Amino acid sequence: MKIAIVGIGKIARDQHVPAIAASKDWELAATVSRSATIEGVDAYTDFAQMLADRTDIEVISLCMPPVPRYDFAAKALLAGRHVMLEKPPGATLAEVHALRDLANARGLTLYASWHSRMAIAVSAAKAWLSDKSIVSAHITWKEDVRKWHPGQDWVFEPGGMGVFDPGINALSILTEILPNPIHLKEAILEVPINRHTPIAAKLMFSDNVSAEFDWRQVGPQTWDIEVQTNAGSMALRMGGNRLELGGSSVVGQNSITGEYPSLYERMAELVRSGRSEVDLSPMVHVADAMTLGRHVVVDRFDF
Ligand code: NAP
Repeated sequence: MKIAIVGIGKIARDQHVPAIAASKDWELAATVSRSATIEGVDAYTDFAQMLADRTDIEVISLCMPPVPRYDFAAKALLAGRHVMLEKPPGATLAEVHALRDLANARGLTLYASWHSRMAIAVSAAKAWLSDKSIVSAHITWKEDVRKWHPGQDWVFEPGGMGVFDPGINALSILTEILPNPIHLKEAILEVPINRHTPIAAKLMFSDNVSAEFDWRQVGPQTWDIEVQTNAGSMALRMGGNRLELGGSSVVGQNSITGEYPSLYERMAELVRSGRSEVDLSPMVHVADAMTLGRHVVVDRFDF
């Protein structure tokens, strides 16, 4: 199937373009970007023009930040194209509900992708937890914003979600693997004095589940989910790419290389079977944290 990518930034170059190039399902037939091109690929700067010219392209993958994404997604669906959304799928829950309804009404596929759910050990963790009772769980998600979002001021603008941009990856895994749903009870959001979104957050959920997100980490990065159950402990490390049971590693790798190829495999399956996948449960927790969270002002942050 022919696919176009819109928004040629960090994630498009790091993951989407290589994943599409390596896939038997997809041909990268066009890009839409205000400034960038991919060698050998038909390049547009105007999205409407691309949709009008390239009626052979059935699928649009949107790789821009969440705030501008809705307008592109709605235009693509109205033009009869299937749409794949990077995470977080939108700036608000309501706009993604509207996209889901539009896709359903037109018989098109909408895929709200969560790359961390495709991490190699997530399905094994889910299977192991499925018949256990959760005693407690803790997420530690600490990374260096300067490494993963160099100079990207949009992450600190309204709708950029701040530390929830990576934190939602942890929540996408948590909501996938826990046998029962949880809900937020308390949150503390640390917002730099010169910014609009948190650089760190602490969350307390029902069922003794807690999370700690921090974007000020330097040196080794930490992406861990540790769970105590009635039948022993489990840890998912490396962003869901390594599973440990009772302290011993049972599944895993120390890289995230398989996630985007799996997302594109899933999108191909969804389009072929005429289905959509729009699970907003990770984003519900972020919206709740923004609603319920106590704001604490912290030191200014500059890239
Ligand atoms: P980015 O490099 O700052 O932006 C991606 C591209 O989006 C830009 O290069 C630009 O493309 C386009 N864009 C930005 N603002 C726009 C606007 N107002 N209107 C239209 N297009 C606009 O960001 P990124 O790191 O790739 O992140 C993009 C998305 O991927 C985010 O939702 C993020 O959460 C997700 N993601 C990022 C990472 C990561 O490691 N950075 C990892 C996983 C997922 P053009 O200049 O080509 O128009």
